[in-house]
Amino acid sequence: VEVEVEAKKVVAELRERCATPASLLWDVAAAMAGEMGAGLEKEGGSRVKMLLSYVDKLPTGREEGLFYGLDLGGTNFRVLKVHLGGSKKHVVNSESREVSIPPHLMSGTSSELFGFIAGELGKFVAEEEEGTDMPNGKKKELGFTFSFPVRQRSVASGTLVKWTKAFSIDDAVGEDVVAELQTAMVKQGLDMHVAALINDAVGTLAGARYYDEDVVAGVIFGTGTNAAYVEKANAIPKWEGELPNSGDMIYEKLTSGMYLGEIVRRVLLKLSLQSGIFGAIDNSKLKTHFHLRTPHISAMHHDETPDLKIVAEKLHQILEITDTSLETRKMVVEICDIVTRRAARLAAAGVAGILMKLGRNGGIDNQRSVIAIDGGLFEHYIKFRECLESTLGELLGEEVSKSVAVKHANDGSGIGAALIAASQSR
Ligand code: ADP
Ligand code: MG
Repeated sequence: VEVEVEAKKVVAELRERCATPASLLWDVAAAMAGEMGAGLEKEGGSRVKMLLSYVDKLPTGREEGLFYGLDLGGTNFRVLKVHLGGSKKHVVNSESREVSIPPHLMSGTSSELFGFIAGELGKFVAEEEEGTDMPNGKKKELGFTFSFPVRQRSVASGTLVKWTKAFSIDDAVGEDVVAELQTAMVKQGLDMHVAALINDAVGTLAGARYYDEDVVAGVIFGTGTNAAYVEKANAIPKWEGELPNSGDMIYEKLTSGMYLGEIVRRVLLKLSLQSGIFGAIDNSKLKTHFHLRTPHISAMHHDETPDLKIVAEKLHQILEITDTSLETRKMVVEICDIVTRRAARLAAAGVAGILMKLGRNGGIDNQRSVIAIDGGLFEHYIKFRECLESTLGELLGEEVSKSVAVKHANDGSGIGAALIAASQSR
């Protein structure tokens, strides 16, 4: 009994500390909108990084022709081709291929990596093109999604700030990744032009905008979180170049990642140490950083079996916690719920902040606003997604909510690149 009282105290304290009442979320949204403005004022003006994408034309749905995309993010890259048939037919055909990058190339030299990529791209183009002819003399346009930190100076150039994930190719840091790719393509005799360098949030925005002109932002909730939205170029004081003809500029905003599994692990460790509710275990798994991952807590959170069998299974397999009571398993589910609900509600506040920045949180003229969202967290963690959507409704109110839609936009990083290549080259 003593044990249970202690455990309940830990959960109650967590619940209290993770509370996100609407008033707090509105403060977060307002702060986000404010920081976004500050980040537009000057470089380093805000901790919210406001990076120029240099994309000033999003696809309209009227583009025609064959366009290519290259998506390099994790350990795989993808090459794809889309055949656009204009406003009536849209995407007539699209084909893609995923290629895994040999591990030794992830820490070799820049020319080896880009040589390999260009080689695979060349093979794909050669095979795909049998039977389809390209208009004579017209260069093939390629969009490049590159999900690493890059400092862009134009829509089709950007220097690599640093590698992340499994990559570490020293001689590529500080170099223009588009130039590296272009050089490798020339070596392969591949006659292609890189029309745009983008990231997945910009691609998501473009991919959704292609079908719906009311899409105002693309947001990624994956391993990390980031968003891209369309800003008026004249609202960007730090912009030094010539204003683009369209008067628009797509921006990207990064926020920190959401380590939901890791947060839950820390709470469970505290619960174990403070209450002993998991019995006499040695806690070694519970003490291992990042050992509990977000898909695990998602699986436990969505457990619908009457005796929470999946929770028991995960606790056993991952954390070596056995013989839990149903009460204890319910407590674990509640912890997942508290942590994820907090994250989803804060994420909703972020989205509300973007709408606020765009002046679209007041339902002016009932102008429709669509937010396109992608990323593994949003796609697979159903309770996260449902909570995000309902919280956004709660924040905006019934009236404004009628004109705001959240839409799952699949595969922005792939097809979005090819679509931006199309819109930029028109
Ligand atoms: P990235 O930002 O690396 O492109 P993705 O969009 O591919 O990420 O999403 C991967 C992330 O999605 C994982 O790190 C994990 O947090 C989350 N995720 C993947 N599958 C699930 C799942 N079944 N349940 C909950 N979260 C998941
Ligand atoms: Mg991604």
